[in-house]
Amino acid sequence: MRESTADCWTIEASAGLRSPELFTLADRRGSNCFSAHIRPLLARFMPARSRCIPARRCSTWLLATGGYGNVFFLSTNAKGCNVTATFRAYKKGALFANPCYTQIHPTCIPVSGDHQSKLTLMSESLRNDGRVWVPKNPGDKRHPSEIPEGDRDYYLERKYPSYGNLAPRDISSRAAKQVCDEGRGIGPGGRGVYLDFADSINRLGKDKIEERYANLFEMYQRITGENAYEQPMRIYPAIHYTMGGLWVDYDLMSNIPGLFVIGEANFSDHGANRLGASALMQGSG
Ligand SMILES: Cc1cc2nc3c(=O)[nH]c(=O)nc-3n(C[C@H](O)[C@H](O)[C@H](O)COP(=O)(O)OP(=O)(O)OC[C@H]3O[C@@H](n4cnc5c(N)ncnc54)[C@H](O)[C@@H]3O)c2cc1C
Repeated sequence: MRESTADCWTIEASAGLRSPELFTLADRRGSNCFSAHIRPLLARFMPARSRCIPARRCSTWLLATGGYGNVFFLSTNAKGCNVTATFRAYKKGALFANPCYTQIHPTCIPVSGDHQSKLTLMSESLRNDGRVWVPKNPGDKRHPSEIPEGDRDYYLERKYPSYGNLAPRDISSRAAKQVCDEGRGIGPGGRGVYLDFADSINRLGKDKIEERYANLFEMYQRITGENAYEQPMRIYPAIHYTMGGLWVDYDLMSNIPGLFVIGEANFSDHGANRLGASALMQGSG
């Protein structure tokens, strides 16, 4: 890694020790830079009754605080990935690149009330055996088991016969939004489509489907209370990955000397399209 010419940073507690671990990183001149959540593990090493963490000198900071998906309110990310560190860095002059580049994942649990803190990602592998459909007619509120084949629209199979239910993520996501915009979405709020395993269960047997996806079906049932072996899953696209982020050079250093940014927090590698296995890519560089 490159040597930095930056001022050294100190870290100071700006809140009581017992609570919430929101601390402020300050430079030598005392101006605040970033906030950081200090994990309980780190808090253990702090002096008792003190509100300060002993100052540490260093020439390099590494920001690895994830993407900004939660600016869209709900995403597949945990709420702790809240983009505060990136925002603070930006306010201190770090450049931000490509904020419009966001990947949307088609196979997530839809919004069904105000109790969700994230839109849980189901696996893309489910589309190997699940068939995506919505009612043909807008406003059809019948239970899926009461909607006959003739009243169903397997829209991915219809529109993209060669890809079918395995159409790429952007195409599947857009198509789902389109049918919901037409008033044919299912579930609370009408922002959902069915992912139906009935045909695969009939063809391969429940045991085979269980062998392939039991963990996912169980997770789905815990979250929604619905048994996807007996009725179709409900899915909808959700914000999943942000390709934009803090600008970095080829050494992953931002334009603030000494501030390096790695992972989803930076903008590098992707452009408008997300490259696969990105979570591993920079770690192995
Ligand atoms: C369900 C799911 C499945 C995925 N599957 C794949 C996959 O198959 N392949 C793939 O390549 N990618 C996948 N991804 C994306 C990949 O996991 C992420 O892009 C990757 O984990 C990002 O790593 P990161 O270290 O940059 O950030 P994160 O893993 O998001 O970690 C950031 C950390 O920083 C913490 N943090 C945030 N702000 C602060 C702050 N101010 N102070 C202190 N800490 C802070 C957060 O709490 C978090 O722990 C998936 C993501 C999800 C959610």
